[in-house]
Order: sequence, then C-alpha cells, then structure tokens
Amino acid sequence: MRIILLGAPGSGKGTVAEGLRSAYGFPKISTGDLLREAVREKTPLGLVAASQMGKGGLVDDATVLALLRERLARPDCREGYVLDGYPRNLSQADSLDALGLAGPEIVFDLQVSDEVVLERLANRRTCPNCEAIYHLVNKPPKKAGVCDVCGAALVQRNDDTPEVIRERLKTYHAKTEPLVARYAAKGDLHRIDGGRAAGDVIRDVRRILETALKGPARAGE
Ligand SMILES: [Zn+2]
Repeated sequence: MRIILLGAPGSGKGTVAEGLRSAYGFPKISTGDLLREAVREKTPLGLVAASQMGKGGLVDDATVLALLRERLARPDCREGYVLDGYPRNLSQADSLDALGLAGPEIVFDLQVSDEVVLERLANRRTCPNCEAIYHLVNKPPKKAGVCDVCGAALVQRNDDTPEVIRERLKTYHAKTEPLVARYAAKGDLHRIDGGRAAGDVIRDVRRILETALKGPARAGE
C-alpha cells in the first residue's frame, strides 16, 4: 500500500508515519530525511543537493525525485511505505504519478488550524541523529534536551520558528492544498481531523487503512 500523507507543517504527518511504521512495518519516507542522509553520506545525489543548498537555494525537483525513486526501489518498500511531505505541489504529484509505481494508493489529509500548527511547532524538538520527534508539553523526552531513543542532544529546527512557520503555512495553503482536491477527485483521499491527540489520529487512520488493505471486494464485512 502506497500511503501519502498530506497536511500542513506540524499537522502530525511524521507522528502518523511513525505509528504506521510500527504497526505495519511500512517505512516512513520523508524527502527531508532523504536529503539529509544523502548529504551526510556524500552520495552522488547528495553532493548535487549540497551544492544547491550551499548556494542558498532549494534542492531542485529533479534531484529530490531521483532520491525518492532510488529510495522506493529498496526492498523494504515492496509491501508499501508512507510518504511524509511529498508531493508538496501539483508538479511533484505529476512526477510521482509518472514513476508508474505499482500497488494501490491511499491519501490522508491531516487537517489542522494554523493556530494549532504554530503552538505545536514552537514546542517541537527533534533529534538530529535518529529523527525522533518530541513536544515539550505533550511528548517531552524523559530527560530534558536528550533523545530517549539514542541519547543525542535535541534541537529546534531552524524552520520551526514562528516567522518561518508563518511563511511555510502560506506556502502550504498556496501550493499543497490544491493536492487535496486532486486526490479527492481520484477517489483516494481521506480527511482526518489532525487537531486531536496523536493516538486518536493514528487510530482513525489505521481503521481506514485496515479496510483498504482488505481490498474493495471485502470492504465493509
Ligand atoms: Zn535520537
């Protein structure tokens, strides 16, 4: 099952992806993580990305797509995977379709208000080593400032400050929201209230997914 998660920054995509990974073993694939990994390991695509970022720009779509294609070809993606944060715009959605990937597709739109996003991201801390995500109020690490999983020092991402978040939300509303209509028209879309506790959101997503995994013929049994 190819699972696509749509939603504003801070809507809980990473947390839902992690919940699906632990429930079904579907790897969580985020282009941000792929880029960081490729740059860290200095792969050929990583070097291209690093030089583009070094010039202060964004990594171009072709490079991101090439990274994604490489990742989706690995054996752990055979049964399915969760895309977290891709596609971000209609042109990326076209590119994804053009890859001609096998298997059914299901899309979840995690809906949250801008106010909730601002509150969540201001409190978000991430582990630069293992990508674990924390919330200072709702999901604090056991020891302040330290990752429960690997012991690395937690950081606030540069793009999680209020000014940057407002800009990211603007971009989201302009570029990513149109994807909701696109996937709704294809019949793949499920809207989820992402403003609730993570456990409730994941339970709803899993219920819909269970039905989809059984296949259309047996759905509703
Ligand atoms: Zn960690």
